[in-house]
Amino acid sequence: MANVSLKHIYKVYPNGTKAVNDFNMEIEDKEFIVFVGPSGCGKSTTLRMIAGLEDISAGELKIDGLVVNDMEPKDRDIAMVFQNYALYPHMTVYENIAFGLRLRKLPKDEIHNKVVEAAEILGITEYLNKKPKEMSGGQRQRVALGRAIVREPKVMLLDEPLSNLDAKLRTQMRAEIAKLHKKLETTFIYVTHDQIEAMTMGTRIVVMKDGYVQQIDTPKNLYNYPANKFVAGFIGTPQMSFFEGTLKKDGESVIIKFDNSDEEIRVPYSKLYKANPSGLDGKTKVYIGLRAEDVSIAEKGKESGDAVIKVTVSHKEELGSETLIYGDIYGGDGSDEGLSRIIIKANGINDISAGDVIKVALNFERVHLFDKQTEQSVLPRIPEYNYLDCEIKDGKLKFLGVDIDLPEALKTADVKGDLLLPVNAVTFNGDLKADVVSCEKINGINLIGLKLNGKRLYAVECDAAELKTANIGIDLKKITVTADGVNVISPLPETNGFDCRFVKRKEKAQVEINGKLKNRKIIRFGFDVAGTFFNASDEIAQKIFSALGVKNAFTSQLKMECGIYDVAVSDSGIEANVEETLDYGADKFLKCDAGGNTVYLKSDKECAGKIYLQPDLEKIGIIEKERDIKII
Ligand code: ADP
Repeated sequence: MANVSLKHIYKVYPNGTKAVNDFNMEIEDKEFIVFVGPSGCGKSTTLRMIAGLEDISAGELKIDGLVVNDMEPKDRDIAMVFQNYALYPHMTVYENIAFGLRLRKLPKDEIHNKVVEAAEILGITEYLNKKPKEMSGGQRQRVALGRAIVREPKVMLLDEPLSNLDAKLRTQMRAEIAKLHKKLETTFIYVTHDQIEAMTMGTRIVVMKDGYVQQIDTPKNLYNYPANKFVAGFIGTPQMSFFEGTLKKDGESVIIKFDNSDEEIRVPYSKLYKANPSGLDGKTKVYIGLRAEDVSIAEKGKESGDAVIKVTVSHKEELGSETLIYGDIYGGDGSDEGLSRIIIKANGINDISAGDVIKVALNFERVHLFDKQTEQSVLPRIPEYNYLDCEIKDGKLKFLGVDIDLPEALKTADVKGDLLLPVNAVTFNGDLKADVVSCEKINGINLIGLKLNGKRLYAVECDAAELKTANIGIDLKKITVTADGVNVISPLPETNGFDCRFVKRKEKAQVEINGKLKNRKIIRFGFDVAGTFFNASDEIAQKIFSALGVKNAFTSQLKMECGIYDVAVSDSGIEANVEETLDYGADKFLKCDAGGNTVYLKSDKECAGKIYLQPDLEKIGIIEKERDIKII
């Protein structure tokens, strides 16, 4: 029973393969987490790093609150089950299960009780005296599970444990493992390439691709709200059908137009409130995604209408209770998995044949839309921005019927443009009266729907669920205003980056030797930022060495990151030149040049010319530039 915390975890193999990139996740006690993705996506590597079978290149791994990066596998209190069972062939089932306990020198009768209990849970009591070779694959995997559970580990790690079993046994074992998880009340982390296994077993699923986490969510949310096209296509059978097209706002509706076709469908604009309106121009390309159950054969008498399109049938799969009909929206061959194939789920057996042209109805309540370039959903559950029209006039920012005085730092010529207002820039301590019209809790974050002068606005992270109205404000440091594609107001950066190197230097220090203080030269490790030395704690130095190796530690190009509130003007430190004072009203910031790096910091004092900067070393991040790895 334990939680597992993965913070900025990376794995770079010695041959340079970057198998895992910036993996971040907090796994709660007793969760059943599944890592899923195609072969080579990095799921086993991640699991093996948790197990301690693979070194962690960078990042921090905690089990039950304890950093275990450098802890031996045997000390981590985990148990692992592999695809190939890894049983000792010359031992009986009993001996195989008891083996680890004997090594730990547990009393004999305690071992006996644990083995018998595990065998009972797994239904293998009658095989205890058999050898693995006398057993089926499913039974052998139960033995492997038995060997893991007698250790009563804090975390159970399972690497494709069912891949060697036939389909029927896999389904049965899936249910058994899920039951086992409930019974043991232990944290399970399970790796599979099989999305059905993931969907049926996980309390939460991590979808990975090419070493990157694509999305972490419950099975239901992954299915209903895939964050990108990859997740949409990977999760769910049959696969989601994708088409290319465009979106065009037309009054209070949006026209979804399929490319190379006259087909177009109208949906209410309210469905696309969260989308960036600049993509609703009838030109920006999107992928239109529909699941088979959201496509149906149009009922008689309803063969025309907004959401009905023509499909040429290529073949079908009769599955008994339902039929999957494959077709093409351009009259092509629906056998090809392309951007015109459509899969339709129909009830029971049906008499449609290959070559038929049928009318199908699309349930556009459940359409998925992805930007063609980024492949990200254009309808994210939590939008990053509110996209609003605005005007700057006489030093005021006007939008949604409100006027806000712009502080000195943001004063600019009169202009009409677009306001990008991050949802997290809407605060709940201002003087603009808004109605609270909705509150959705999404992965622990409250997304609040507001109406300001009758117009929609989103905000996050506030306990406004109970409120009917709210007094909101805008954090002007976070806004962007564009006019004719040019930024006339840009957000204040949130972090600074200093180029730096990891260095060692000799220092004179007083060292206690045999109870006497003596002057000695000692070696200190630290960072050289533009000629200034910053001492690194032992912990930080250790992280640098373990991520870069002793040889590369001193030659790698690094970047020191620190927040704009985590660097201060001091008597000594990094030399910088003040270029500008940015007056945001209540807060004032300095914009400086420090050896070619532009640095922002909050300062209540007037400063000009040469100053010295002191970053808060407790709060810095260190990035290795070449491989783009966050070491700290
Ligand atoms: P998965 O479990 O998702 O199939 P892995 O974690 O096994 O993927 O591998 C992720 C990537 O790391 C792949 O590109 C694989 O080729 C590479 N890889 C795995 N092990 C090693 C290794 N020992 N040395 C070098 N590259 C490796």
